[in-house]
Amino acid sequence: MDRITISDLEVFAFHGVLKEENSLGQKFLISAELYMDVSEAAKDDDITKSINYADVCKDIDMFLKNNTFKLIETMADRLARHLLISYKILNEVCVKVKKPWAPILMTLDTVSVSVSRKWHHVYLSLGSNMGDMEDNINKAIRLLDKEEDCQVNRVSTLRVTKPVGPVEQNDFLNGALYMNTLKTPQELLALIGSIEKELKRVRDIHWGPRTIDLDILLYDDEIIQTTNLTIPHIEMDKRLFVLEPMTELAPWLRHPVLGMTMREMTNLRLGLED
Ligand code: ADP
Ligand code: MG
Repeated sequence: MDRITISDLEVFAFHGVLKEENSLGQKFLISAELYMDVSEAAKDDDITKSINYADVCKDIDMFLKNNTFKLIETMADRLARHLLISYKILNEVCVKVKKPWAPILMTLDTVSVSVSRKWHHVYLSLGSNMGDMEDNINKAIRLLDKEEDCQVNRVSTLRVTKPVGPVEQNDFLNGALYMNTLKTPQELLALIGSIEKELKRVRDIHWGPRTIDLDILLYDDEIIQTTNLTIPHIEMDKRLFVLEPMTELAPWLRHPVLGMTMREMTNLRLGLED
């Protein structure tokens, strides 16, 4: 991917664990690798289609002067997130914070921390079978999109489906969405949990009725298996109410474990030839 690099920008700011560092301040050296596609800007020789590195330098300076962090780890993380949120053209950034005068009473060149952050590509499934189902789903989408590190890009059509499993209950309204996020898989799981809670989902009967169910289907092409999180979602290849909306959003997308596209998995479930 194309990249603009800012190297060792000097910023005087007030970060540090020690009180003196917060009152006296010190110089930090900031480097940023900004990953984006510059081909449109280059083709038209037009800065408005790229990023103005003078603006980015001013922005870095302001951000680090207006906030105070104890750790250079936090400085690098927050600055990387700030840049990704502020400049929509950026896909990924790598920020390095150097501290040339770390107060350790010994001589060293610099101590530094580097972090890489990027927008992740995520698909979620949406389901509801209590109350105003469409309203529940739309509220959940609004709550997701309200987060500054989440951007909902596309939502499939919502469809009425028959409940699966042993519990007698109403029909569901189901769909899926495509979003970008800076959150880690665990942070995203916590967010959907808090949205489910806010929309008053009560976890009483397993597989039972719910005002809202949000599941993480895919997170980039990662394969994750921990006690509280399985990605790709364990049931996604078996559920038409997930596969059909996914086929609408991304028919060509391959399941990272099974290697089949969303369309192929849907057709297999429907018993159709591809
Ligand atoms: P279900 O979605 O299977 O009907 P719940 O919504 O009650 O049931 O989810 C139960 C648990 O599933 C959650 O507490 C969560 O920790 C776990 N889980 C595992 N993988 C995922 C995933 N990919 N997306 C959402 N939850 C998941
Ligand atoms: Mg769930």
